[in-house]
Amino acid sequence: MEETSNSPLWRFSTMKVGGEATRLCQPGSAEELIELVEKLNNKQEPWYILGGGSNTLISSEGVDGTVIRMTQMTKLATPEPDVLIADAGARLPHLAKYAAGLGLSGLEFAVGIPGTVGGAVVMNAGAHGSCMANVVESVEVLNSESGKISTWSKDDLKFVYRNSAIDPAKDIVISARLRLQPGSQEQITAITQHNEEYRWRTQPLGWPNLGSTFKNPLPEKSAGLLLDQSGAKQFKEGNAAVSAIHANFVINLGGATTKEVVQLLKRMQETVQENHGLRLHPEWKTLGKFSENIAEIWNGE
Ligand SMILES: Cc1cc2nc3c(=O)[nH]c(=O)nc-3n(C[C@H](O)[C@H](O)[C@H](O)COP(=O)(O)OP(=O)(O)OC[C@H]3O[C@@H](n4cnc5c(N)ncnc54)[C@H](O)[C@@H]3O)c2cc1C
Repeated sequence: MEETSNSPLWRFSTMKVGGEATRLCQPGSAEELIELVEKLNNKQEPWYILGGGSNTLISSEGVDGTVIRMTQMTKLATPEPDVLIADAGARLPHLAKYAAGLGLSGLEFAVGIPGTVGGAVVMNAGAHGSCMANVVESVEVLNSESGKISTWSKDDLKFVYRNSAIDPAKDIVISARLRLQPGSQEQITAITQHNEEYRWRTQPLGWPNLGSTFKNPLPEKSAGLLLDQSGAKQFKEGNAAVSAIHANFVINLGGATTKEVVQLLKRMQETVQENHGLRLHPEWKTLGKFSENIAEIWNGE
């Protein structure tokens, strides 16, 4: 297993922000993961799970403890013609294209979501009218307290908009079993490509970012539209700015710090509250030490 000390984490977040972790471990198998978590628990050392880092704001002040990055666990299997089993660290864009190549429909929505299977299950990631809840049949989860792996059914996972019952502080997704529909390979590939190209037109993919900053407060009220109507596209704090292409995207202009990002989020939240009377809740997770009062922004769910 790969293990490094005082490891800079900015490389592992799509925002390209993040200080050092005391230790970074990258298990390559469920066995290595189980052994690692047991060892850390026995020593009472804190640990945190990171997937693709595409929805996690990692503190510039770093992380006290071990960050367990799941991206080395990437195996895919097709035990039945319309079932895909993907390890937690497999990337959604790769998985969507793999499924399309097999003539399996259901993952076309996921091609532009740059996260891992584990992170996508936790977040119930979704786009283009679909989400993980529509394809996940069950998930293998390591309970870090018992050290046992169990199978969670779709009902156990309690998927809702951008959330699930998985608590990454104790439940670690090992793999997901996805039920897909056989279809025309040509058609599935065309929809997948269309969804991928749509991203390039509508999102600031040239700049480091973490996707949508806030959840949509109501199904018919997108956070992006509310922010745009409130003039947020002009907002900038140091090297963190609201994208001119999509008002719900925060971009790192180069060298942004979490202090700047947090200030920007606060302004975005306040402007929508003032202009529309609606409270926006961040979609992002946070990792590490924050000297700013981030609870002000993240609380009230
Ligand atoms: C350009 C861009 C576009 C995006 N578009 C979309 C979109 O259309 N729809 C959408 O829903 N999201 C989107 N996102 C956000 C993000 O890609 C998704 O939320 C994704 O599912 C996060 O996966 P990750 O592996 O990167 O998670 P991370 O950011 O690494 O982690 C997110 C949370 O999951 C936990 N976690 C990760 N892996 C595991 C595991 N194996 N077991 C237990 N817990 C785990 C972490 O501890 C953390 O709490 C976008 C992001 C970017 C940068």
